[in-house]
Amino acid sequence: MSFASLGLSPALLRAVREQGYHAPTPVQAAALPPILAGADVLALAQTGSGKTAAFALPLLQRLVAAPPRPGPRALVLAPTRELAAQTAELLRELASRLLHRPKVALAFGGVSINPQLMALRGGCDVMVATPGRLLDLIDHNGLTLAGVDCLVLDEADRLLAAGFSEELQRVLALLPARRQSLLFSATCPPAVQGLAGQLLHEPVRISI
Ligand code: AMP
Repeated sequence: MSFASLGLSPALLRAVREQGYHAPTPVQAAALPPILAGADVLALAQTGSGKTAAFALPLLQRLVAAPPRPGPRALVLAPTRELAAQTAELLRELASRLLHRPKVALAFGGVSINPQLMALRGGCDVMVATPGRLLDLIDHNGLTLAGVDCLVLDEADRLLAAGFSEELQRVLALLPARRQSLLFSATCPPAVQGLAGQLLHEPVRISI
């Protein structure tokens, strides 16, 4: 299996090579084609499986293929500051290797909101955030979600276990109905199944 056979564009193939990835991991092999095709995906995959690149690569490819417009166009929600930061780092590394260099913004709670508001002034294409701080930024008019056409819930089981259900529901209510939604989770307890049922439209199910 090669990245080229999964439908990655030459620009993303170059980025993957420069990242030092030689072959896709199983979750990448399973997730890239449906995500590139615009489908909703429910992926059960552990940390360490390569799940971050499994959504980051196709998300960036779809983003740079579409005409530019005010963002954010993609929203990634993560349960912790550490996970949000790691995900933003990979997205930034990949984005820096693309011609149009999509802008990736990162926000999490527990630190002053002002630098994050300042950073959003120049706009962004991809927003990676923890749910509570995202809502704070929206309340401060730091961004709107009206242009988001791809939503990723990363480690959805931990998002729910961390007590973010209410925040998630508020965020979901602000998103356009027409969008692609991707839900990644290590486990699939009833609460995650419920969220998947609410969020995903005819999802492709992947279990690694
Ligand atoms: P994740 O499951 O997203 O936390 O990724 C775990 C680790 O696997 C990260 O350090 C990635 O850099 C690495 N990784 C992801 N995809 C690949 C790949 N296709 N080839 C080699 N390493 C990878």
